[in-house]
Amino acid sequence: MPISRFQIDFKNKKAKRGYQWGGKNDSFLIPVRNLQENEEVRYTTETFNHFLKLRKYYTDTEKLKLEGKKFSNKWGRFRYPEETPDELKFMGSIHFIESFIFDLSLNKLPSLNQIASEQFNPRQNGHPTWNFNDVVGTLSISFDWDEEGKKIVPTYHPLNLWEAIKLQLLLTGLDAHNNIIECLHYLTFGMKSGCLQYTTGRSDKKFCSDVCRAAYSDKKRGKSLDKIEKADEINLTDGKFNQLSKIS
Ligand SMILES: [Zn+2]
Repeated sequence: MPISRFQIDFKNKKAKRGYQWGGKNDSFLIPVRNLQENEEVRYTTETFNHFLKLRKYYTDTEKLKLEGKKFSNKWGRFRYPEETPDELKFMGSIHFIESFIFDLSLNKLPSLNQIASEQFNPRQNGHPTWNFNDVVGTLSISFDWDEEGKKIVPTYHPLNLWEAIKLQLLLTGLDAHNNIIECLHYLTFGMKSGCLQYTTGRSDKKFCSDVCRAAYSDKKRGKSLDKIEKADEINLTDGKFNQLSKIS
């Protein structure tokens, strides 16, 4: 059988300062300071792997909301449909992926009701086929240079982030297993300009860059200095108080 190399081309929009939970039932992601979502972020395999990591929070709503917010800070929101709460979009899409992966690894049969309303033409081995368009909608394709600029490859153009993720899941299965590391500066102090928030590499890597490593240790050192100064202040006032009480 011929095997194809392909790429998925999609750019999402995101809010520069990230998001916070708000709106009805606290279930919508609202841009911090109500900034416009006009920063562009390219969809990559890292996006896909990051989303798959959210699966482990499926049964813990608070944790899912925290980690989902971080996902959107980095890669933007699932913007469509706009009226559906972001919280439900996370739940729904993770449910889809969980069922898909579970059934696929169990018996190579993704649960069809998760994928398409109808199944088509069982093949000779009994495995049914399904209509791709039922799952990803109408898909645009073009022929573009690959990332190294060496080869022209089929290039899919999904319409939104969830379609991009679904498409990658359906076309690549689950062979992507790169570990994503959250930058310790981001984990501790939140968003900062220049911080990539996530990185990949050896499992003992802690920061997205040397800049974040330096900023982190500066802030930690600053905090312990603060503590020493405060302790000095207390000693000082204690001293004064002692003197005063001696006078009276
Ligand atoms: Zn960082």
